[in-house]
Amino acid sequence: LFVTFEGGEGAGKTTVLKEIQKKLEKTGRPVLATREPGGSYIAEKIREVILDPRHTEMDARTEALLYAAARRQHLVEKVIPHLERGGVVLCDRFVDSSLVYQGFARKIGVEAVRELNMFATEGRLPDITLYFDIDPKEGLERIAANKGREINRLDQESLSFHESVREMYLQLQHQEPERIRLVDAGQTLEKVTDAAWNLLQEKI
Ligand code: C5P
Ligand code: MG
Repeated sequence: LFVTFEGGEGAGKTTVLKEIQKKLEKTGRPVLATREPGGSYIAEKIREVILDPRHTEMDARTEALLYAAARRQHLVEKVIPHLERGGVVLCDRFVDSSLVYQGFARKIGVEAVRELNMFATEGRLPDITLYFDIDPKEGLERIAANKGREINRLDQESLSFHESVREMYLQLQHQEPERIRLVDAGQTLEKVTDAAWNLLQEKI
């Protein structure tokens, strides 16, 4: 079972992913908890290039290509082998992030980025995507309060950038309601985890 976690900054994807991982491990199923960009040696190196706050000259298409390259490497090296062994993969971000961030927010075009990612993934889609929906203002406040979080290039983006991120996530969710399930991420961690867990139960 291939599960992806999506959402804007500060939605709590990473935190909830760890909670779900613990719950799943108790059931005895082999779980791979991983993230994008990254999750493998090469892909983590690409992540450093993409997110380095000094790389302010990064072109939007270069960025999209690097995300797709990292995704490809992580998918074939980690995700697919784990799925083939019958395991559950919990992945922090996947193709939907690129449609939203590079395609829409950075204005390359959602369909162009979708095509690029079809090449990178050979059309492999998650079985279920949990979209953690949060008001961007609230998300950014959470991030500001979380001192341990790594600094990245996206920290320089405006509120309207993050609002367009949310707008596109909601559109994608509307287009593919079967795969992409919405979780209200404005609630307590416990409630958000429960909601995510219940949605997963329907697929397991
Ligand atoms: O998952 P996390 O929020 O830690 O992602 C790291 C950064 O990369 C975030 O700021 C996110 O917005 C950005 N990102 C992006 N395009 C993607 C995936 C992530 O701009 N396709
Ligand atoms: Mg995170």
